[in-house]
Amino acid sequence: MSSSSSSSISHLGRQTTGIPTRCLCGANLTTFGAQTKDNLFRRFYRCEIWLKRKSEHHLFKWVDEAIVDEINIVDAKQSQLKEDLDSFKLCTARRLEKQAKQIDQTIQQIQMLMDTNTNNCATGDNSATSSEDPKASPKDLSSANSLSNIAVAAIALGAMVWIYARISN
Ligand SMILES: [Zn+2]
Repeated sequence: MSSSSSSSISHLGRQTTGIPTRCLCGANLTTFGAQTKDNLFRRFYRCEIWLKRKSEHHLFKWVDEAIVDEINIVDAKQSQLKEDLDSFKLCTARRLEKQAKQIDQTIQQIQMLMDTNTNNCATGDNSATSSEDPKASPKDLSSANSLSNIAVAAIALGAMVWIYARISN
């Protein structure tokens, strides 16, 4: 079936963006080649219902315009995705930096605690000879052990964060 389109028809059915899949009435679309002098053989989408009821308003869209539309939509989506990814990267990097600082501080605090503990142990040993408390030394040792465990765990966590930061960049 041959269909012709006047320039006034092209203003109808502009509600759709991109490549249309259906008319707004819900009917399927078919593509035709224009028969007018200005747009000879130019392809366009037309609602199948319109073929029977040409007086009604149904979807019309040039195929080339629809494709350009679609490319613009995909382009915009891609830009948005890139923006989202960049902001996610920045956000993650900042968070990791903050966490790394906190871990550094914790390690420093643990180091300080361990240093004081060692000093206390040393002075404690001296005084322990005079005082009659033999349980003091093992207690100090066990707390020093648990502190070093925490330090090892903190260092391992720091290493993991550092590796993650490398991977995510
Ligand atoms: Zn329709």
